[in-house]
Amino acid sequence: MHEMSYMLRLVSLAQQTAREQQIDTIKTMVVEVGGMTGVLPYYLHKYFPTAVKGTLLEGATLEIIEIPVRTRCEDCATEYEPDKGNGYCCPHCGSKNGTVIAGRDVTLSKIIGGSL
Ligand SMILES: [Zn+2]
Repeated sequence: MHEMSYMLRLVSLAQQTAREQQIDTIKTMVVEVGGMTGVLPYYLHKYFPTAVKGTLLEGATLEIIEIPVRTRCEDCATEYEPDKGNGYCCPHCGSKNGTVIAGRDVTLSKIIGGSL
């Protein structure tokens, strides 16, 4: 399961961000999970309480925003979400020559501070 290593990285990043923004307590951590990463939000939620034990995030809420995969066609610059419906091809010109522009990463979107 690589979800735990993502989680530990996100928690350490959130703590670093909190220090920079002088936030004492983190109430909510918002994480964006791209559709291409294979990371399952279910496991992120499952590992969250373990990963935050003894950190600024203990008792915080985890919010996950799922980011759909988006591709930009290299031939006509159309942006689309590749799926079975369009056969993973550009819906405008039918090209398979696309570059993934969103949905590749797991990132810390923001932290929301406050008192418990
Ligand atoms: Zn195209």
